[in-house]
Amino acid sequence: MKMIQDFNFKGKKAIVRVDFNVPLDKKTFTVTDDTRIRGALLTIKKILGDGGCLILMSHLGRPEGRMEKYSLKPVIPVLEKYLDKKILFADDCLGESAVSMAAALKPGEILLLENVRFYPQEEGKPILPENVTDEEKKAAKAAMKVKQKEMAKQLSGYAEIYVNDAFGTAHRAHATTAVIADFFPEENRMFGFLINSELAAMDKVLHSSQKPFTAIMGGAKVSDKIMLIENLLNRCDNIIIGGGMTYTFIKAMGGKIGNSLCEGDKLDLALQLIAKAKEKNVNLYLPVDSLNADKFDNDAATNITAVDAVEDGWMGLDIAEKTIEKFSEVIMASKTILWNGPMGVFEMEKFSKGTTAVAKAIADATANGAFTLIGGGDSVAAINKNGLADKVSYVSTGGGAMLEYMEGKKLPGITAIRGE
Ligand code: AMP
Repeated sequence: MKMIQDFNFKGKKAIVRVDFNVPLDKKTFTVTDDTRIRGALLTIKKILGDGGCLILMSHLGRPEGRMEKYSLKPVIPVLEKYLDKKILFADDCLGESAVSMAAALKPGEILLLENVRFYPQEEGKPILPENVTDEEKKAAKAAMKVKQKEMAKQLSGYAEIYVNDAFGTAHRAHATTAVIADFFPEENRMFGFLINSELAAMDKVLHSSQKPFTAIMGGAKVSDKIMLIENLLNRCDNIIIGGGMTYTFIKAMGGKIGNSLCEGDKLDLALQLIAKAKEKNVNLYLPVDSLNADKFDNDAATNITAVDAVEDGWMGLDIAEKTIEKFSEVIMASKTILWNGPMGVFEMEKFSKGTTAVAKAIADATANGAFTLIGGGDSVAAINKNGLADKVSYVSTGGGAMLEYMEGKKLPGITAIRGE
């Protein structure tokens, strides 16, 4: 497989899938967080620095057809600021303007194509009217797959090299993230620097972790994380469970959880995970105490109880002191750490202490030499909120994509480049 750092783009034209799915201000349509744009700069600069030119393509939001509020135009001034260069823009990705501008592109130039999701064939899902039969559905899906291939083929004709650097959509089999790769020979397709660094961080945790390896799982529901926990049980030494999913485990073990979040249909599963951890010699750490509230509100009255003695009318919204102490101790003694999901309702100040304490313990463990990977929107938000992003080893940019990779799934955007 070609590696971008070894490739020379001199005199070449590359088409690069990036993830510019950035949040926009609803009134001014300016970019409110440019993290994702900054994430693509290394790859863009490498191609330009070598003396090549590039065509950027991305999605933004979930438009249904062409919708101006999902235009990629607001990205232009941000790119121009970081690259100190004019960005050419085609107001379509398949139309005449895109074709002619791509053909006329010269070394050193950058062309940004309009939102690829203005075309339903990007995602490959037909928009169906109501009351269609199964047969009609099947036919529409097949027709859409053909159109998806045609879209990918046309875009592939714009350049000699395809680079995928959109980690956030690597788990999608879309025209620009996966299908297009088939139209380039293996030596002319590769990952960009962002995907390479995401893969390196995840592979390090999954396949060459230094022991002890601790996985910290939090968030609302255990049902969202079952496959991840199961895969990690084969690899880690310790699993720490926090957040809302705690109470499903505690209830399954016969504890009293009051009105805490609980998935009644996952009690058996929780017991199976506990048994599997035992069988695999993985230490499973559940909270021992709980910070409870009498309502789901930052102004709620609170009390602290043992985690299995939450009274009726109260709900556990964060871990409490004894748990923080125990979890921090396990974290500090670890050499590899994966964190996915907050320890409590960290969006409310009153219930953010546990999540903040875990974030700080992870930063301290990093300073002690541990490799630490943070993934999932809320854990990343908690790390950023506490100003710790540069005090951990790696902060992933892809929520769903990271989760699926860590679950052991094959991601279409990754396998397409590797030719698997
Ligand atoms: P997830 O997307 O699964 O990582 O879940 C994140 C969400 O879980 C956040 O919005 C938290 O507020 C929520 N959460 C964490 N702990 C609890 C809890 N004890 N009770 C209810 N929600 C929680």
